[in-house]
Amino acid sequence: MPIRLNKAQVLKQFGLILFLTIPIPIIAQVTPAAPESIDKKKIKVSTASGQSVVVTANPLASDAALETLKKGGTAMDAVVAAQTVLTVVEPQSSGLGGGSFLMYWEEATKSLTALDGRETASAQVKEDMWINSDGNAMPWIKATKSPSAIGVPGTTALLWEGHRQFGRLPWENNFQRSIVLAKQGFIPSPRFLRSISLAKGLGISHSKDFKSLYFPNNSLPNQNVPFRNKELASTLSRISKGGINEFYLGSIANELIDDLQLFKNKKKEIKSITNEDLANYKVIKREPICKRYKSWKVCSFPPPSGGGVALLQTLGTYELLSKKNVSESTIKHWHLLAESLRFADADRSHWIGDPIDLPVPTKGLLDDNYIEERANTIKNNKATFRPLAGKPKGSELLDLASQPRTAGGGTTHLVVVDKYANVASYTSSVETVFGTRTLSGGMILNNQLTDFSFISKVKGKPIANRIKPNKRPLSSMAPVIVFKDNRPVLALGSPGGWLIPHYIANALIGTLDFQLSPKEVVSQKLLSVQPSYTVLEKDGNWSKEGSNIYQSLFKLGHQIKYSSFSSGLAVIKWHKGSWHGAADPRREGTALSLQGKKNP
Ligand code: GLU
Repeated sequence: MPIRLNKAQVLKQFGLILFLTIPIPIIAQVTPAAPESIDKKKIKVSTASGQSVVVTANPLASDAALETLKKGGTAMDAVVAAQTVLTVVEPQSSGLGGGSFLMYWEEATKSLTALDGRETASAQVKEDMWINSDGNAMPWIKATKSPSAIGVPGTTALLWEGHRQFGRLPWENNFQRSIVLAKQGFIPSPRFLRSISLAKGLGISHSKDFKSLYFPNNSLPNQNVPFRNKELASTLSRISKGGINEFYLGSIANELIDDLQLFKNKKKEIKSITNEDLANYKVIKREPICKRYKSWKVCSFPPPSGGGVALLQTLGTYELLSKKNVSESTIKHWHLLAESLRFADADRSHWIGDPIDLPVPTKGLLDDNYIEERANTIKNNKATFRPLAGKPKGSELLDLASQPRTAGGGTTHLVVVDKYANVASYTSSVETVFGTRTLSGGMILNNQLTDFSFISKVKGKPIANRIKPNKRPLSSMAPVIVFKDNRPVLALGSPGGWLIPHYIANALIGTLDFQLSPKEVVSQKLLSVQPSYTVLEKDGNWSKEGSNIYQSLFKLGHQIKYSSFSSGLAVIKWHKGSWHGAADPRREGTALSLQGKKNP
């Protein structure tokens, strides 16, 4: 059956991914110690150092998070404050109508917790929900705005559970800033306005509420006038008082179901979540996945994310290959990184889905012998395109088909360390840009169910990420915490859809191997891969006259394209007695800190 998602074209059209092939430039030397060092004059990066540090994708959210830390709150309180503010000021990326993953290090108990607040498919969904009557997959752009794409939002439940376990300030206090901002307004940021234009390009005519709030009188909100969202202020205020039950069982749940009913009345084919689905929603405490990388232990999120597995496989493969190829050449570094990523991608598009449906051979995928076996098939002097998935232990009884990559867009990452030395690494999403571009109670509703494979099988073989009732779609989100001698020394993550583990692998290797500072690491130019070509970030030294990287990679057989990337790295690193944070200059984030005594 032909797959007609055509996502690349759609994304290209709207500038989400832009690939430009440029001619081979001439030679220059860039050392592995600074693969793409930044031009400090040109790039302004928000950084902060101290005992307690926050990095989020928006200055107002960073400020709210820092405020909670000032009041003696924990990193978890800061996550609640930041996420509720982001719901107001960065609704294109995340919000209470979406889902999220949290990695949390609690210093007092020396324990690492992974909370899964991913959106969940309704008990009513059908496996063929993204298949048209002609038997073909629905065009992705159409699915992105369908109310059928809304998964049961998990973010509120995750915040509630995280706060119950790790919070110190009253739940309600952590909502104060967001309620004020929604009620009194905030000056719209350039990215906020650009995202509305992007959403308009993807289609907003299906949602009266979206248009009247974000595109009033057929134009963008005035950039000099505070932007208010009174309905959201009321929603936030009710959740701040009523907690989780207000959201999943109370008036907010009922309003959401009523709003969805209006869509269903217009289009009978729409299947969307029910009161029961909301009532049944559960945050899942998962076992973090950790793997030794040189002298560090890197921990990330397990399935239903494929991002964490891909990251750990990439690092494992890269470590083995770079040990074998000890030459200090920059080219080796980029070649081996590209190959390690491509092999990991082949596995994640084949083996990973929510384990509630088909078993996922996570242990096998991360097994040292398996990674060595995979690494042995990678050539030191030649790029491999379209590598196939391997056969990890635990997959013997599975006969699956691979799925095409998923697209992404609306996601945010934040990191926090507090004065108690707790560390939070948190990625949150509504998918695409403004999710479905539909609203309830002033909240953007996600379209995360477009992260499922649109087709459920190929030639009779099931796809791990097929749609099933009560299942969570495959994600790429990979919040990370890195340990040295059992204490956290680095936390990071990024939005970026399928490319998330690519961005993080670049950043981790930059930080750990090349000892780049968070500022340098968020500013370095990134390498990514597709199954049949390698992608270099535009405007790096490697695309300037004088760079030999293109030429050398080309000689190794890499098909190279250039692209702008929309990573949103948030990084904090322990170095010489304090934490240092930086926000990705490609977005609008800020790093802020409280000065004070040093962490142990
Ligand atoms: N929805 C995507 C995921 O969960 C993330 C999209 C993005 O990062 O832009 O993997």
